[in-house]
Amino acid sequence: MAVDIKKYHQLKQHLQEKFVQLVVVTKTQSLTDINTLYELGHRDFGENYVQELISKQQALPADIHWHFIGHLQSNKVKYIAAFIHLIHSVDSLGLLSEINKQAIKNNRVINFLIECKIGTEQTKTGISKEELPTLIAKIPEYGNINWQGFMGMGSFTNDKSITEQEFSQFRDLKNKYATEQANMFSLGMSGDYNIALEYNSNLVRIGSLLFGART
Ligand SMILES: *Cc1c(COP(=O)(O)O)cnc(C)c1O
Repeated sequence: MAVDIKKYHQLKQHLQEKFVQLVVVTKTQSLTDINTLYELGHRDFGENYVQELISKQQALPADIHWHFIGHLQSNKVKYIAAFIHLIHSVDSLGLLSEINKQAIKNNRVINFLIECKIGTEQTKTGISKEELPTLIAKIPEYGNINWQGFMGMGSFTNDKSITEQEFSQFRDLKNKYATEQANMFSLGMSGDYNIALEYNSNLVRIGSLLFGART
């Protein structure tokens, strides 16, 4: 399976007109396919497993912006701290504190988003809206992290009304807590990005739309 270049250009154009960033999700995809997009000028790629991310990062050009989009265990932060461009999935104070610690060790500042959980998602990761204010209040105590906004993930469903309900809740949270510096809103995947755009997403994470269904 290869990347659909025509679809990539169409998507890129569509998103650019709306000032929305595209992170191409490359989990399970080959180095060759990632390189194809790199040659076209694409730089932002997303992975959700630390091992896979590390091996791809080592094999591919150094100016790629790697986004970590999966659940991140604190004990694995050290493996990606030297190069990660943006961690989308901060969902606890422990994780945040570890990111800051590893950022200090690497003498850099690490960008992150807070992954939010909303009411209808029992199985999903992310921080609850009750815990959110406490986490946000702690951010200024850490000198080597840079909070850029929020991430949300919709349930896997074909029911548009469920997705809309969830995205509306994510947007409410984002609107309540976003600041001028932390106004990124990572929302939308292949199956729901068009809905996410209606809910003010400004960063979408797209894989299977470009590569075909993962096997
Ligand atoms: C896999 C994944 C995506 C992309 O999913 P597609 O349906 O392939 O577009 C986006 N976000 C996260 C967190 C993912 O794990």
